[in-house]
Amino acid sequence: MQDTTTTREDAAEPPSDVRTTDPAAAPLDGAPDTSADAGEERDAWPAVWRGFRGRCPNCGSGPLLRSYLKVRDHCPVCRQELHHNRADDGPAYLTILIVGHIMAPALHIVFVTWRPEPLILITIFSIGCIGLSLYLLPRLKGAIVGFQWARRMYGF
Ligand SMILES: [Zn+2]
Repeated sequence: MQDTTTTREDAAEPPSDVRTTDPAAAPLDGAPDTSADAGEERDAWPAVWRGFRGRCPNCGSGPLLRSYLKVRDHCPVCRQELHHNRADDGPAYLTILIVGHIMAPALHIVFVTWRPEPLILITIFSIGCIGLSLYLLPRLKGAIVGFQWARRMYGF
């Protein structure tokens, strides 16, 4: 059996080879050399807000995500590389934090004030929790990627 028709393009692409002129300035531990773009200061809050809106943190107009939660490899408008930004568990953590702090007091207030039927209560709050979580998750992921971009963290 031969497998010569493979068209996979997601094989590890070698990183763009940016060489410093001074070999002594090269990182010793094999970390990616970010000295080439380490010049200008990046404002964190505009980048976080652009990411929250699902936009590229650099230009604010290109889309940041290519599906519900997948970060694009690069911005289609300004060509900013985005593939090395990894939010990991951060968006899920923030989503749980926010949804919990909104819905738990609301559950208490609704229960104490109106004493609705348990089935009605659980139906409304289940849909509310799921809907709010699905709304917030990609936005918070964008916000975290925007923050990472502004701080040049390139993932964890
Ligand atoms: Zn862009």
